[in-house]
Amino acid sequence: MITALEQYDPQIYELLRQEATRQSGSIRLIPSENYVSKAVMAATGSCLTNKYAEGYPGKRYYEGQQVTDLVESLARDRAKKIFKADHANVQPHSGAVANLAAYSALASPGETIMGLSLPHGGHLSHGWTVSYTSKIYNSVSYEVDTETGQFDFNKILELAKKHKPKIIISGASAYPRKIDFKKFGEIAKSVGAYHVSDIAHISGLVVAGLHQNPMPYADIVSTTTHKTLRGPRGGMLLCKEECAASVDKAVFPGLQGGPHMHTISALAVALKEADTPEFIAYAKQVIKNAKTLAESLMGYGFKLFTGGTDNHLILIDLRNKNISGKKLAKALDRAGIVGNYNTIPGDPAKPFNPNGYRIGTPAVTTRGMKQEQMKKIAEMINTVTENIDNEDVVAKVGREVLLLCSEFPVPEHFIIPNKH
Ligand SMILES: *Cc1c(COP(=O)(O)O)cnc(C)c1O
Repeated sequence: MITALEQYDPQIYELLRQEATRQSGSIRLIPSENYVSKAVMAATGSCLTNKYAEGYPGKRYYEGQQVTDLVESLARDRAKKIFKADHANVQPHSGAVANLAAYSALASPGETIMGLSLPHGGHLSHGWTVSYTSKIYNSVSYEVDTETGQFDFNKILELAKKHKPKIIISGASAYPRKIDFKKFGEIAKSVGAYHVSDIAHISGLVVAGLHQNPMPYADIVSTTTHKTLRGPRGGMLLCKEECAASVDKAVFPGLQGGPHMHTISALAVALKEADTPEFIAYAKQVIKNAKTLAESLMGYGFKLFTGGTDNHLILIDLRNKNISGKKLAKALDRAGIVGNYNTIPGDPAKPFNPNGYRIGTPAVTTRGMKQEQMKKIAEMINTVTENIDNEDVVAKVGREVLLLCSEFPVPEHFIIPNKH
């Protein structure tokens, strides 16, 4: 395969080689990223990319589905088992599309949805202004308490009573604490709203039993497949039997055409991996690593939103350091430490130039790093922060990063031979 690529398109081949080198030679702290296994990567690059399979197993619109039906049924069964769901739809091309499908299964255009606001850690697709979700639906946002960083359920209930949403969305993209999905479910029920729970970031922790599973308290659970769950890029919807038909109709033919069967086969592999003791050990280590990284950072005087973490994610509030999130993110990236700048709830700074820096531990944990390496990473983050304008120091940290990475190889997806 790679030889054919190298021969036919040496330029793309060379760029892929450079990206593989970058991914193995940098410390990947973006909390939504991970490294899939060789098995998942192999399925992603399979002949299923050649197949159209509009419809669902047993009800397709093209012939030749002898194998695709079996693959998709396996993926669905594995998802149902580990998420304890009656029904799974494994076709959404992404998390954002999965969310839109969930809303359209439960609400009509013009009705009200209510989700966490983007600057408070919500996702664009939870009805934020620039998202199409806010154009189709009347969107109301709730927030976290900026003092404690907790959800103020009384306020959320008040807001729900006032706006009478058709759907309440729980879940977040930048929230470092556990989320009480049961409480969101109760609030939704009390105002006659549906509850859609989006566990994109934490689904790997949920299947490992390390975070409350929203399944019993939500009408539809939405997730990406490529974050802590460690599968191929994509989305997935899980629900009770009552919603199964409307969820399936919303995905296809509602929003999508043909499913990406190569991705679905890779998802089936990832779901098998997620049902193992090794995966639970990985998920436990993700949290241990995040706690150690958080404590070490606080030891260097960093302020963390909510004062720590319960999951895989840490949000650094840089206001006491007088450095913008973007400036730190760019300096760290030059040293090979890759995270992202982020808003801090309650901080008026604009999303394009916020005072937060968001990091997480799934990818470094997949590489096999443990607490000792988290302390080293905290030290390196501090060194760059203290020497933000000194490129010699940044370069020196960059060499330490390469050395650390060399001890923890990434899953080798394909052999990339040296250029000759
Ligand atoms: C990442 C994320 C999504 C979007 O997933 P994409 O696959 O990038 O579309 C949706 N919801 C939440 C909470 C997320 O964190």
